[in-house]
Amino acid sequence: MVTRYRPRLRRDDPFVAISCDNSLAFKTGTQRSERPVFINKIAPCRHACPIGIDISTAFHLASQGDIDGALRTYLQDNPLPGVCGRVCYHPCEAECSRGNFDESISIRSFERFLSDHGQVDIRGDVPIHSRKEKIAVIGSGPAGLSSSYHLARLGYQVTIFEGRSEIGGMLRYGIPSYRLPRSVLDRDIQRIRSLGIDIQGNTTVGKEVSWKELASFDAIFLAVGLQSGKILFEPFGVESAVITGVEFLADPQKWSLDDSTQKTLIIGGGNVAIDAARTLLRVRNGNGSNITVICPESRDQMPALPEEVNEALEEGIRIVNGWAPDKLHRKDGKLVSLDFYQAEIRIDEASGTLEIMRAGKEVQKHLADKLIVAIGQGMESDILPPGIEVKGGKVVVDEWGRTSLPKFFAGGDAIGEKAFVADAIASGKRGALAISCFLRGRDADTEFQAYHLGKSHTFSFRHFIEGPEKDLVDLKRVVSFDHINTLFFCESPRNNPDRLDPGTRKSTFEEVTRGLEPRQMEEEIARCFRCGTCIDCENCLDFCPDISIIKDARLGMYGFDSDYCKGCGMCSVACPRGVVEMVEETT
Ligand SMILES: Cc1cc2nc3c(=O)[nH]c(=O)nc-3n(C[C@H](O)[C@H](O)[C@H](O)COP(=O)(O)OP(=O)(O)OC[C@H]3O[C@@H](n4cnc5c(N)ncnc54)[C@H](O)[C@@H]3O)c2cc1C
Ligand code: SF4
Ligand code: SF4
Repeated sequence: MVTRYRPRLRRDDPFVAISCDNSLAFKTGTQRSERPVFINKIAPCRHACPIGIDISTAFHLASQGDIDGALRTYLQDNPLPGVCGRVCYHPCEAECSRGNFDESISIRSFERFLSDHGQVDIRGDVPIHSRKEKIAVIGSGPAGLSSSYHLARLGYQVTIFEGRSEIGGMLRYGIPSYRLPRSVLDRDIQRIRSLGIDIQGNTTVGKEVSWKELASFDAIFLAVGLQSGKILFEPFGVESAVITGVEFLADPQKWSLDDSTQKTLIIGGGNVAIDAARTLLRVRNGNGSNITVICPESRDQMPALPEEVNEALEEGIRIVNGWAPDKLHRKDGKLVSLDFYQAEIRIDEASGTLEIMRAGKEVQKHLADKLIVAIGQGMESDILPPGIEVKGGKVVVDEWGRTSLPKFFAGGDAIGEKAFVADAIASGKRGALAISCFLRGRDADTEFQAYHLGKSHTFSFRHFIEGPEKDLVDLKRVVSFDHINTLFFCESPRNNPDRLDPGTRKSTFEEVTRGLEPRQMEEEIARCFRCGTCIDCENCLDFCPDISIIKDARLGMYGFDSDYCKGCGMCSVACPRGVVEMVEETT
C-alpha cells in the first residue's frame, strides 16, 4: 500500500518555501530526465569498524528511545559490545562524518552505554542446535568467542576448548580490570554462553586432548592467539628477576613485585608495556617512584594507544623514549643494571615492520632489580595441529581463514591480524561464514560478495542470515560527508567520558573511564547524522514541489509517483543524510 502525503509545517523548518499543493491536472512526470532513488547506504563509521556494526541504525533506534533495539543491532555483528565499548581502538570515530563538521561522535561510549543499559535475550532469535554438524573452537579469546557465537546463531553445535581455567583469553588474562572490569566481560560471555555453547576449560588441545580426538568434529576453528611473551636476552642466573609483560599481567600478585623500593624497568612501547607499568603502580599502592618504561620509539611512534600513554603519564609513570636495550649486567647472581643505546625507528610503510637503528654512540645505564620485558608475543609451536603451515610464527590462511589443513580454519592474533580485539572479533565472524559455506558446499567468495560492506573486509551478518531482500540498503555504497546536507544540523560539542582523577585511580583497580551520563548520551545520539539511514524525517515530501513522494509501507521506504515527479531533484537536496539520489531516467 502506498500513501500520498500532504506536508505539514514545523516550527523548526528552515526558512525556505515548501510545497502545499500540486497540479494534479498536469502529469508533469513526462518532463522528467532524472528520477530519485531512495535507498539506505552504509555510514562511514560502519565501513571503518572492523566488525561492520550497523552504527547508524543503532543510533536511530536509540533516538526513538529503543535502547534494547539498538543493542540488538550491535549484537547482530558483535557479541562483545561491553568489551568493545571500553577497549576498542575505535577506528569508527576517525571516519565519522560529524568529524568534518565539528567533532566526531563518541561512538565507543555509545556502545558501552548500550551494553550497560540495554537488555536483550538473543536466545529466541536463533535456531539453537538446529544443525547436526559439530564444530570445535580452540581458544576462548575474542576470536574464538566471536566464531562460536556466530556459528551458534547459524544453528551449529559448538564446543570451545580452552587451556586456561577461565574463558576470555587476553580479555581476562591480559587487559587489566581498571580498563575492562571483569563483571562487564562476564556479562558479554554469559550472553554468548546462553546460545548453548559447550565449554571445556582447563583443556589444552595437543596436551589434555589430542588433535586426533577432534577428528569427529566437522570443522575446527583455531583461535589460539599468541600466548608467550618474547624475551630479550637469556637471563642466565637472574631468571627470577626477569619476566615477560604477559606473564606479569596474567597474575600480577604472583611475582612479589609489591616492594616499591625495587627498581623495575619495563621494556617496550606497546599496550602490554603500558598496562604492565600501570598495573605495577596499583600493586605498589600508587607508589611509582621506581617504575620506568623505556622503549626505542619516540613518543609519537609508540604502538600503545595514545589515550593509554597519556593516562600513564598522568599517573606519574616515567616513560623514556628513544633508547633500546643493549646489555644486561648481573653481580653475585643478581640483576644489577641494563645498558641502553640511543635508538631510532624506521618503519617500512609497505610491510608495517619496524627496524631499530643505532642513532648515536651514547649509552644510558639504568639500575634495575627487576625487568619486565614487553616486546611482543609469539606462538608456542607445539600448540598447533601437526602439519599445519606456519610462516613467521603465524598460521598461514587465505582471506577466509582457511588453513593448509582440510576443515581447519583460523583467526585472531594467531593469523597475524592487527592485534586488536575488534580485528579478532571480525576474523571470528569471517571464520563462521567460511565454515558455514564449507559445510553447505557453498563458495565463500560468492556469499561474501552479496553481503560485504563497501570495500571493507567485513560483511553484514544480519543480511547473511536473513537474505539481502530484507530491507532497502545498498551494502556496497558508503555515504561520504559530501552527501550530508549540513544545513539541517547545528554545531554542538562532543561529550567525552569523565575519568577518575589520577591521584585516586593510581592506587586502585577501579575502572578509570566512566560511562556517559544519560543526558550526555542523549546529546550524542541527537548529534549523530545517521548517515545513509532514512529516519522518516519527511524532508523529501515536505520539499517536493509536486507532492509526489509516496511511501511503501511494506518496505518502510519512500518512493515517487512517476506520473507527477518531474525530476527536479529537490528531494535529493533536502535529504539530510544522503538517502535520496538522482539517477538518469531510462524509460
Ligand atoms: C596486555 C594486553 C592489552 C591489550 N589491550 C588491548 C586494547 O586495549 N585494545 C585492543 O583492541 N586490543 C588489546 N590487546 C590485544 C587483544 O587482547 C588481542 O588482539 C586479542 O585478545 C586476540 O584475540 P585472540 O582470540 O586471537 O587470542 P587470545 O585473546 O590470546 O585468546 C587465545 C586463547 O586461546 C587459548 N589457547 C591457546 N592454545 C590453546 C590450545 N592448544 N588449546 C586450548 N586453548 C588454547 C589461550 O589460553 C587463550 O585463552 C591487548 C593485549 C594484551 C596482551
Ligand atoms: S567495535 Fe570499535 S570500531 Fe566498531 S563500532 Fe565499536 S568502537 Fe567502533
Ligand atoms: S554521524 Fe553518526 S552515522 Fe554518520 S559517521 Fe558519525 S556516527 Fe556514523
